[in-house]
Amino acid sequence: MYDANYLASRLRGASVGAEDSTLLRNHQTRETLSYGAFFANAERMARVLVDAGLQPGDRVAVQAPKTQAMLELYVGTVLAGGVFLPLNTAYTGAELSYFLGDAAPRVLVCDPKRLDDLTPIAKGAGVAEVLTIAADETGSLTERRDAQEAGFEAVARAPEDLAAILYTSGTTGRSKGAMLTHLGLASNAETLKDVWRFTRDDVLIHALPIFHTHGLFVASNITLMAGSTCIFMAGFDADAIMGYMKDGATALMGVPTFYVRLAGMEGLAEVSKGMRLFVSGSAPLLSETHDRWREVTGHAILERYGMTETNMNTSNPYDGDRRAGTVGFPLPGVEVIVTDPSSGAALPQGEIGVLEVRGPNVFAGYWQMPEKTAEELRDNGFFITGDLGRIDNEGYVHIVGRGKDLIITGGYNVYPKEIELLIDDLPGVNESAVIGVPHPDFGEGVVAVVVPEKGAELSEEQIRAGIASDLAKFKQPKRVIIVDVLPRNTMGKVQKKELRERYRALLS
Ligand code: AMP
Repeated sequence: MYDANYLASRLRGASVGAEDSTLLRNHQTRETLSYGAFFANAERMARVLVDAGLQPGDRVAVQAPKTQAMLELYVGTVLAGGVFLPLNTAYTGAELSYFLGDAAPRVLVCDPKRLDDLTPIAKGAGVAEVLTIAADETGSLTERRDAQEAGFEAVARAPEDLAAILYTSGTTGRSKGAMLTHLGLASNAETLKDVWRFTRDDVLIHALPIFHTHGLFVASNITLMAGSTCIFMAGFDADAIMGYMKDGATALMGVPTFYVRLAGMEGLAEVSKGMRLFVSGSAPLLSETHDRWREVTGHAILERYGMTETNMNTSNPYDGDRRAGTVGFPLPGVEVIVTDPSSGAALPQGEIGVLEVRGPNVFAGYWQMPEKTAEELRDNGFFITGDLGRIDNEGYVHIVGRGKDLIITGGYNVYPKEIELLIDDLPGVNESAVIGVPHPDFGEGVVAVVVPEKGAELSEEQIRAGIASDLAKFKQPKRVIIVDVLPRNTMGKVQKKELRERYRALLS
């Protein structure tokens, strides 16, 4: 029934004949959902969409709480030949109006609380149908689903057809819609399932949002493809996660902040005994967190590197040395090279430059932005990630920062990571972010924003003195600001853009 649909047939594959096995244990509702019931619901969702006039290639936009219905809608959209378009729940009406105008979806699914705000925006963007889904799984979407029969002949879709559009977080200018293909999503999940050894015996704690590549594609696609079970949580809840670890979970996928918070929980050593795998990504994991975790639990967190446009590119090894501060090796079938930021020429091993990636996982371009696509996706298939990094002698990839975070002061390049690592090593420092702000003489000047450890007293002088002997003068911060917390987005990424704006006038 799914054979002609490239991605759906692969998502269904492992559970054929195992319809009774559990796909989801829902933390909110305390209910379980079997594979058979999930796919029957996904088929009903496909029927709801076809009834709403969905044609192959049409977009289905969703801005809604994390629910199992949203996951069913994702697979239902794929079955119906549509393109799934999840949107960050934090986006405002004004932002939604851009996304809906840009993507022109056939259907929008939103939280019932936002129906009144979003209906006029959706109508203005030509959306044919607006449906709702609330955090407790109620709404017109599930009502329509339940009124449908299960069973649906999947619409034929080839490897190169689109399955999803995910908008980038838009840290530089407007968000761009990354067009993700059936092949891109399927091949990446298949590879990760194999290299991380997911099987039917796994029970994954799923506490990530499903509007982002990490929670939607990495965590959910792997679970489906392996026939594993996932504990589906609306958000991060340290106590509940501790309980699930104790109670039969085998794997956790998280952003670094998950691990920072869990590392401080009493009883972690005991409850983590039955766990097989801890994966971290979406933002850099501090070596300190990695070391602490290993000390307490005996497990080395497996760090991987990916992004909206490519899904996952590299991973530390399952067997072998998982090195703190690195993102491991290119995944099978994925090539990673380092190029000169100005000339684009490949650099020798060990040198810092821009990471470029090629493989079946790489997206098909930005939705309706041919110029942006041409700027970032080379004719030879390499995607220019915008991340700065290097590949060491043993082949481990190291991320040094985002290209746009590179500081150029008096004509010299300064990589913030180098300074952050030194500051983070000082006593009393919890974490730091180093940025460049306008400077009248040097173009940009280095500023360090530092968070002390709980209860520690730190001064600007102490920080400066602590790193002075390790850094060339031009790299030394001209100012050090002590703050309580660094601004972060929902995926745990430090918002350097916000810091640059906040301290814009500091050196002028
Ligand atoms: P997003 O498209 O929101 O998933 O963000 C992707 C970006 O997150 C990448 O381009 C990197 O800058 C960053 N990122 C993802 N994983 C890691 C990692 N393990 N270490 C450092 N940065 C990461």
